[in-house]
Amino acid sequence: MQYSCVDCGLNGCRRPDGQHPAFCPAEGFDLEHEPWLGERLADPENRRVVEAAAASAGTAFDNKLSRLEETVLFAKGIDARKIGIAGCVSLASEVRNAGKVLRAAGFEVVGAICKMGTITHADLDLHVGRKPDSVLCNPIYQAQVLNKEQTDLNVLIGLCAGHDTLFIKHSEALCTVLAVKDFKYDHHSVLALR
Ligand code: SF4
Repeated sequence: MQYSCVDCGLNGCRRPDGQHPAFCPAEGFDLEHEPWLGERLADPENRRVVEAAAASAGTAFDNKLSRLEETVLFAKGIDARKIGIAGCVSLASEVRNAGKVLRAAGFEVVGAICKMGTITHADLDLHVGRKPDSVLCNPIYQAQVLNKEQTDLNVLIGLCAGHDTLFIKHSEALCTVLAVKDFKYDHHSVLALR
């Protein structure tokens, strides 16, 4: 078995003087010896995100902000003007509320719901135990719609595991997840880990 961070009870990487286990994958890491990483962190686009995320996450930690509030701070930090919301139709009410909050915060907002395009299992010749006329989620199209809108940041709300991967893969804008789909735990997916 290969040991890694999932087996670590020390988590010493949280502090400069923290203890690391012998199997630590970051053993020997030194920024000076990772020129490729230094180059990527110095890239202006990445630098902008690093700075904005450090500020918004720090403020959220200090003030116990909600993820929605943190997302607003992050979006402002990267000077986002137009925000895309890639949402699940079963969370349509929450998607609408997110649109209202983000518009009130000064952003232009455009939404793309998972079932848009209304393609069916029959359309794709899919045989996975669903009725042929069941409508499929359409994450590549969601991404395409938001790409055409030239959004600065896409916010995911409730996309299923797998559909989210295709959306993120095809999104031209940065993506952040506001909520994930969890049928069992009412979308509080971390509860399965406690
Ligand atoms: S990076 Fe090293 S110290 Fe940090 S969690 Fe992983 S194994 Fe533990």
